[in-house]
Amino acid sequence: MHSSLINTYKRLPVSFSHGEGVWLVDDTGRRYLDALSGIAVCGLGHAHPQVTRAICEQAGRLLHTSNLYTIPLQEELGARLLEVSAMQGAFLCNSGAEANEAMIKLARLHGHRKGIDEARIIVMQGAFHGRTLATLSATGNAKVHQGFEPLVPDFIRVPYADAEAVARLAADDERVSAVMVEPVLGEGGVIIPDPGYLAALREICDRHGLLLMLDEVQTGLGRTGRWFAHQHAALLPDVMSLAKALGNGVPIGACLVAGQAVDLFTPGSHGTTFGGNPLACSAALAVLDCLQREDLPTQAQIRGSQLIDGLRRGLAGLNCVREVRGLGLMLAVEMDHPCSELVSRALEQGLLINVTADRVVRLLPPLIISEAEVETLTARLCSLIRDWNAGAFE
Ligand code: PLP
Repeated sequence: MHSSLINTYKRLPVSFSHGEGVWLVDDTGRRYLDALSGIAVCGLGHAHPQVTRAICEQAGRLLHTSNLYTIPLQEELGARLLEVSAMQGAFLCNSGAEANEAMIKLARLHGHRKGIDEARIIVMQGAFHGRTLATLSATGNAKVHQGFEPLVPDFIRVPYADAEAVARLAADDERVSAVMVEPVLGEGGVIIPDPGYLAALREICDRHGLLLMLDEVQTGLGRTGRWFAHQHAALLPDVMSLAKALGNGVPIGACLVAGQAVDLFTPGSHGTTFGGNPLACSAALAVLDCLQREDLPTQAQIRGSQLIDGLRRGLAGLNCVREVRGLGLMLAVEMDHPCSELVSRALEQGLLINVTADRVVRLLPPLIISEAEVETLTARLCSLIRDWNAGAFE
């Protein structure tokens, strides 16, 4: 069928009419268990009543005024974000890429403040930071770069989870002003570094006066079993980006700052028309309320353990499975060969999953998933992978 849309996505042949909790319903009435949450966005599941109510009430009052005026809901949201993160300042925007753009601009400002004309940022192989020109340049994936060269310069790439490589570069290159890193690689295949990795990066940044900039766009807001993934390591970054789950589907992002990054932006140095408008802030405030009231980060930890244990039991002995790993409700089943066909096979069986990095089944179910729903998800996925292993789809 000819589409009116530019062909940027290979879309699956299904469209959904509505959702409820972890379930999505297609236009024929068929129900699907959503183990992807719109790529880590709908942490509270679909059609969450409190988010719906907040958006509807706000839409009837005021959608947008612009950042030329004071927006009380924005002040309130900023304060709530600082309270849960222990950061010191918030800039509100519309997406993950935009939050990361702010982060990259902060690294440049920090460099200039230190007298570095052409500041460099250390980034990671396999990282994903977005699709704008600067964020795709920071991304460690050649496919994302292809066709868009020349890239934004002065990102230097090192292997992920290798703190030694960062230490060497930071010591050797006086132009480095920041380290930009995901606490767990998301698009890169749900790679979970050793527990000491982020702490080692914090120490290197402190030693050399660099900004530690964490991209928590995918890992933030309860996904990994803590409010923010870096809290597993008990440290504070200088800059942190958030988006995805912040609005449960209403587009909103945030760039939070602390320490040496607090006063880098000044009036006129950064901006956005829509960022932090009353509608988006009302959604995000409702999301934070629910996360807090229902202690969803802890729920993610509990349901994540249940899911990983169930998958390990259900997939035991299958030689196509390299590893089942996860942190909270950010999980991966890594295969020994490419497995992208599993996505459409799962869809046929009423299950929404994602495959990333060619051979990693990525699971990001809503944080509100129940014990019984985790059992359903485990059973459906294990049976699918067992059939795939037995060659049932050839
Ligand atoms: N950073 C990370 C870690 C992501 O996973 C993503 C999206 O997948 C982004 C940034 C980009 O976010 P957005 O698509 O909202 O621009």
